[in-house]
Amino acid sequence: MKPRSLWVFHLNTGACNGCDIEILDVLTPYHDIERLGVKLVPTPRHAHALLVTGPLTRQAYYSARKAYSAMPSKPRIVIAIGTCACSGGIFYNSYAIRRESDRLSLEYPRKGGTSEFLPVDIYVPGCPPRPEEILYGIALLRGLVKKKMGGEHYTVKELVLPRSQFNAWVELLLRAKIRREIGYFDGYALLKDFMELVEKSNSPEELGKMVELMKKRIKDSRLRYGLEMLYKHYIGVVRMYESILAEKKVVLGVSK
Ligand code: SF4
Repeated sequence: MKPRSLWVFHLNTGACNGCDIEILDVLTPYHDIERLGVKLVPTPRHAHALLVTGPLTRQAYYSARKAYSAMPSKPRIVIAIGTCACSGGIFYNSYAIRRESDRLSLEYPRKGGTSEFLPVDIYVPGCPPRPEEILYGIALLRGLVKKKMGGEHYTVKELVLPRSQFNAWVELLLRAKIRREIGYFDGYALLKDFMELVEKSNSPEELGKMVELMKKRIKDSRLRYGLEMLYKHYIGVVRMYESILAEKKVVLGVSK
């Protein structure tokens, strides 16, 4: 729904007042939000929209609920102003922040924010957001401007790094390790040989066998130790990458 004018009620649910000052700023003649048909009203009973600031403290929760239910049933728009109102912001792990128990999940790892208990129509992040950003959010709601960014859908293929990029990333991590363990002179040469094995192998198990064969050919025990260490760290990075990928899939709702 695109309202022609918007009567707003400002609701502070525990903000530090940074966002509130920016809201006052958009109401001044300088930014003059009234030219977009927006009017600040003193009671939620007259409001089309709630301008919510703050991370939603337990103290503010019940008053916020009352304010929302006092609004006329339509259109009941909710605008979250500031990072705190969007997601709990810097207060996300505070004991004072309200958390709806059914939202404990990987999808909502942080506590707080307006969306804990209200359906939010527009999020205006920023700490605090600039008056221009608040104006843009409201203009978006009124249908006066187009959205600059949209949601994206990812497939598993897009989530997985191409092999060459993954290997380059791993090589960077291993470079620091091997330099620390056996020095850059021998270490970098050993790493080069190891990365060649990585390129040739198709699985960590196959790589393990190749590393064992290579170890038998190496006379220097220091290099044998370095090779073992490279393999161990490589497997660690692969496992870490797999777990990050699995978490990303859950967050993005990608099943396969
Ligand atoms: S987003 Fe920043 S400015 Fe706004 S209430 Fe939170 S801490 Fe304060």
